Amino acid sequence: MKFLCIGCDTVMDFTERQLPGDGTFAAVFSCARCGREVAMLANPMETQLVASLGVRIGGRTLAEQPMELVRQQLAEGRDDAFVEPAPASRGAIRWSDDARQRLANVPGFVRGMVKRIYSDYAAERGISLITPEVMDRARADLGLEGM
Ligand SMILES: [Zn+2]
Repeated sequence: MKFLCIGCDTVMDFTERQLPGDGTFAAVFSCARCGREVAMLANPMETQLVASLGVRIGGRTLAEQPMELVRQQLAEGRDDAFVEPAPASRGAIRWSDDARQRLANVPGFVRGMVKRIYSDYAAERGISLITPEVMDRARADLGLEGM
């Protein structure tokens, strides 16, 4: 992914990247010629989408390696690493019939990811049964309106 400064016809340089740990993502690109800056913000859903596509912000071209995210988090650390409660296993979470039905309406290529987002949301809050009401709450809490 690259950004082009149209006025200068120059590829902007990647200058900053933030992964605050809450799933949101910010990247700043700047033009070396005129100094213009552009910031890209992504909510957790969009961040996961980018990550799942293997796109590396900043123009990295190396192939992604297994467990990269885990190794990155080990290397960079997380401020809340020791305060986050251990999430319940996603596998223990059940889906109501109508929630399943709603999930089935999600386009196939993102369904697994969407399911994981809702499952994580439920696991983190000790919710064992995902219903359409839980999905509505998750969308509102996570800023996923329109899904
Ligand atoms: Zn420029």
